[in-house]
Amino acid sequence: MILTVTMNPSIDVSYPLNHLKIDDVNRTTEVSKTAGGKGLNVSRVIQQLGTKILATGIIGGFFGQFIETKLSEDHIEHNFYKIDQESRECIAILHDGGNQTEILESGPVLSEEEKNAFLNHYNDLLAQSSLVTISGSLPSGVNPNFYALMVRLAHGKGKKVLLDTSGESLKTALLSQEKPDLIKPNEEELQQLIPIELNIHNPESLKAALSTPDLKDVEWICVSLGKAGAFVKHGSTFYSVSIPAINVVNPVGSGDATLAGLAVAIDSHQSDEVILKTAMTTGMLNTMERQTGFIDSDKFDEYFKKVLVTQV
Ligand code: ATP
Repeated sequence: MILTVTMNPSIDVSYPLNHLKIDDVNRTTEVSKTAGGKGLNVSRVIQQLGTKILATGIIGGFFGQFIETKLSEDHIEHNFYKIDQESRECIAILHDGGNQTEILESGPVLSEEEKNAFLNHYNDLLAQSSLVTISGSLPSGVNPNFYALMVRLAHGKGKKVLLDTSGESLKTALLSQEKPDLIKPNEEELQQLIPIELNIHNPESLKAALSTPDLKDVEWICVSLGKAGAFVKHGSTFYSVSIPAINVVNPVGSGDATLAGLAVAIDSHQSDEVILKTAMTTGMLNTMERQTGFIDSDKFDEYFKKVLVTQV
């Protein structure tokens, strides 16, 4: 069973409006409320691929109950650590022909007791898991080394960790003794990690970037490049992965779908080629759907065949 971690999930509210009136009342009859957070997108896609999954993280209050209900409706098993504070709500207003205005709550501020209690909860769940994915940012009040700690706990039980985060928490995890087994930066996130200017169209530039000392000893570095596919380092082997041109409906969450594909294929001990083709296929399938973190698994084989993995 794959354990997915979402430390700061939210209720994602989306309001489509023809026109957003500032300093005025805006009324809408259409509203969508979903369980949000990168790790929950990963969870949905793993579930849609038919692999057993357990979602964990921290939730609280009525909003937390709503998130749990939504996960149960999607047949996703979950076991979150509960706190007394409310989980957050994130609002996206889709307006004026393609504009998106967002209001993002930062969410609960965790106490020392809550952080330690969560780590114990997580440590218990590791026993029943085969692999761990950790996605997204940390809640307020949590030290950036928290993910590094979680990696250490997982490694203590012999479980691999796929870490998809950015900024300080990623940098700290990479500096720690126990490295995550896989990271999946996109172009912008990779650029933040390396001291040299990146040119994604030049394989030598990408090879040099992924060979910087700070990324040493991370078994898998999968740089996702949107419609350009991915560039990957596994051990000392480099791969360029190309994908077909497709009809994109909503690319949000493609990175999460990619992580789900990586997790499922690595967990089932597939070859490098199959792992990378699976990841690109789930990423592409997500872009073809309106819903974030959702794939039509019936289309899997068709697109899987079209992904090309080349050792470079
Ligand atoms: P997000 O933050 O929205 O989750 P990301 O920036 O982490 O995404 P991307 O590199 O944009 O991740 O996309 C991940 C994968 O999804 C790509 O490697 C590719 O397989 C697929 N993908 C994303 N955008 C496109 C696109 N426009 N056309 C085809 N495939 C795409």
